[in-house]
Amino acid sequence: MLPFHLVYHEGYDLNLGSHVFPSQKFRLIRERLLAEGFATPEDFVAPEPAPDEDLLLVHERGWIQRLKTGKLSYEEILQLEIPYSPEMARAFCLAAGGTTLAAHLALEQGVAYNIGGGFHHAFPDHGEGFCAINDIAVGIRKLQREGKITRAMVVDCDNHHGNGTAAIFAGDPTVFTLSIHQFNNYPAQKPPSSVDVHLSDGVNDEEYLERLSAAYRFPLHGFHPELLVYVAGADPYREDQLGGLSLTLEGLKRRDRLVIETALREGTAVAIVLAGGYAVHLEDTVTIHANTAKVAKEALEAAGWEKK
Ligand SMILES: [Zn+2]
Repeated sequence: MLPFHLVYHEGYDLNLGSHVFPSQKFRLIRERLLAEGFATPEDFVAPEPAPDEDLLLVHERGWIQRLKTGKLSYEEILQLEIPYSPEMARAFCLAAGGTTLAAHLALEQGVAYNIGGGFHHAFPDHGEGFCAINDIAVGIRKLQREGKITRAMVVDCDNHHGNGTAAIFAGDPTVFTLSIHQFNNYPAQKPPSSVDVHLSDGVNDEEYLERLSAAYRFPLHGFHPELLVYVAGADPYREDQLGGLSLTLEGLKRRDRLVIETALREGTAVAIVLAGGYAVHLEDTVTIHANTAKVAKEALEAAGWEKK
């Protein structure tokens, strides 16, 4: 059986108290995968926080310093939409370390899953919408810097447009960004990705999968990235509080399979990150993210992987 690693750290919890972002979900996903016998404690690997030199591949020094030292302005905290705490700042650094680790493992093993990260609304000099550090971009830039990869692709299937990621990689021919999202939703400003699929409200499984497949397969084949970062947001779910799409649990599994298995069959490694998920019942958010792990493992068994 091919190894399949889950990246997790107990410090992923953003320490938000009662907030629409259920930051305890990271721990609950781990517990669910253990309780169901899908994973054993040995399947989990813990990241180190991303060091400043890695964060600086994407972010401005002033932003990192203000975040780490608790010197964010009132406006900066308002824009983040989450309360400040040192634990929150550290959690973002851990998530960036986790996505970087998942990307490294993916190149070795085909797929790896960071049970965290996906903070796609973070920009180089500020954070937005519950996202302070763009772990997706840090992971890609780090692997490029190390010479492990040349080209990367981001497939962002969160309900919300990946504005930070799009802005960071704008004009960069080495990183292809695809975002499929509900158009009439946060963020108001949507800087262009390489490909944007703007969906109308209430889109269901069939239309979603058709639009994603049409937008995804051709650039994946033509661009042929060594690494794909799959932003597997749980919020396109029809019972999400912040999303306005109408995908079912089964539709979300089909989405996961489409992205992951297609990439593996093209010889592209897949690092998976979580992003949003605000289901009315937290259990559903946990189920959606846990299902992604199961689909990823099945896709790896089906498509196989040979380290390059
Ligand atoms: Zn979202």
